[in-house]
Amino acid sequence: MKPPRLLVATYNPGKLRELKSSLAMAPVELVSLETIPGVTQAPEEGTTFEANARQKAVHYSRFTEFPTVADDSGLLVDALGGRPGVYSARYLSEQASDAERCRKILEELDQVADVRRTARFECWIALAQGGVVLEVFRGALEGVIGREARGQHGFGYGPIFQVPERGCSLAELTPEEKLGISHRGRALQELQRALFGV
Ligand code: IMP
Repeated sequence: MKPPRLLVATYNPGKLRELKSSLAMAPVELVSLETIPGVTQAPEEGTTFEANARQKAVHYSRFTEFPTVADDSGLLVDALGGRPGVYSARYLSEQASDAERCRKILEELDQVADVRRTARFECWIALAQGGVVLEVFRGALEGVIGREARGQHGFGYGPIFQVPERGCSLAELTPEEKLGISHRGRALQELQRALFGV
């Protein structure tokens, strides 16, 4: 019997790698957006991660009969009042590179003392089917914005995000180490517990 299918709804290659890697052993066949005919890009109009995750999951689940997972995530820097937050992927400009966005945050925090450089990554994953949200899962990772970019793994703001209990940046962890502690890894564990009881 063929395993059930799950649509993994993201165009972000970094996220896609992590979602696929986390779900690699799960008893499902993962389906990517590229294989769905006529699919259009989901709007992202919410002011919270949860609202955006829900909106994306509902949108993409209407193109197939499969259960669909979509995530919305980002970096919240306390000294910046929670910025970039839901605008993490679009911070500075839509066209800016990850390195430019990291530099921008470092510049904004230039005069901020070490004790006030606290930050967290949040990830919200919505599971939907047929245009209806079934459940939402959340994961968070606490850390500190460093003084320079370090590390090559991952994507986004990983190089400037120091993980205190590891003594290195998120981008210096291997993909497996990152998934074990990260906001996305934790939300994915909750998803798997709900779907497969593991
Ligand atoms: P969105 O969820 O597609 O709106 O994009 C979230 C953005 O937050 C990404 O493009 C990254 O800039 C940032 N982000 C989310 N998760 C991570 C992560 O695990 N590492 C580094 N940056 C991340």
